[in-house]
Amino acid sequence: MKSKTQNESGLRELLEDQLKDIYWAEKAITKAMPEVVEKATSQELVDALTEHMEQTHQQVTRLENVFEMIGLKPQAEKCEAMAGLIEEAEDIMDELDEGPVRDAGIIAAVQKIEHYEIATYGTLRAFANILGEYEAASVLEETLGEEKDANQKLTDLAESVINVEAAGDEGVSGTSTRQF
Ligand code: FE
Ligand code: ZN
Ligand code: FE
Ligand code: FE
Repeated sequence: MKSKTQNESGLRELLEDQLKDIYWAEKAITKAMPEVVEKATSQELVDALTEHMEQTHQQVTRLENVFEMIGLKPQAEKCEAMAGLIEEAEDIMDELDEGPVRDAGIIAAVQKIEHYEIATYGTLRAFANILGEYEAASVLEETLGEEKDANQKLTDLAESVINVEAAGDEGVSGTSTRQF
């Protein structure tokens, strides 16, 4: 069995690795988002995506602060999962014609990204807390809140307007169709 200090340094390393991963991911998102915004049709969707794109730039800066808080230089390491999620978003945008169905596809793809981020920031915050990095934890918590809000906004938009329009004649009215 490992000693307590070895385990702690193991978890700290894991925190650092996960930070480098999400730092790469957030930067990749900032590069991918302009095309997603451009391919969205609904003005409400364009607005929601634009707002979150601006937040994402702040999140990159926030991560640079977190690196500093835990005594590291900001460093990015490729996140294969985010690279794949972005690729899937691009596939959906290429395969579908402009309109509500493509909007529904964009929401599906972006929500997968938000869920990945929610999982990551939740874990990072927990790791930072247990390691006594409380300042870093609270900064990570701030971003976690933004990711959750962005996800919720997309759910609301999908349920209230976009899925209904996308379903068109195929749609069944009066059914409860919850989208998380
Ligand atoms: Fe983000
Ligand atoms: Zn990753
Ligand atoms: Fe999976
Ligand atoms: Fe996000």
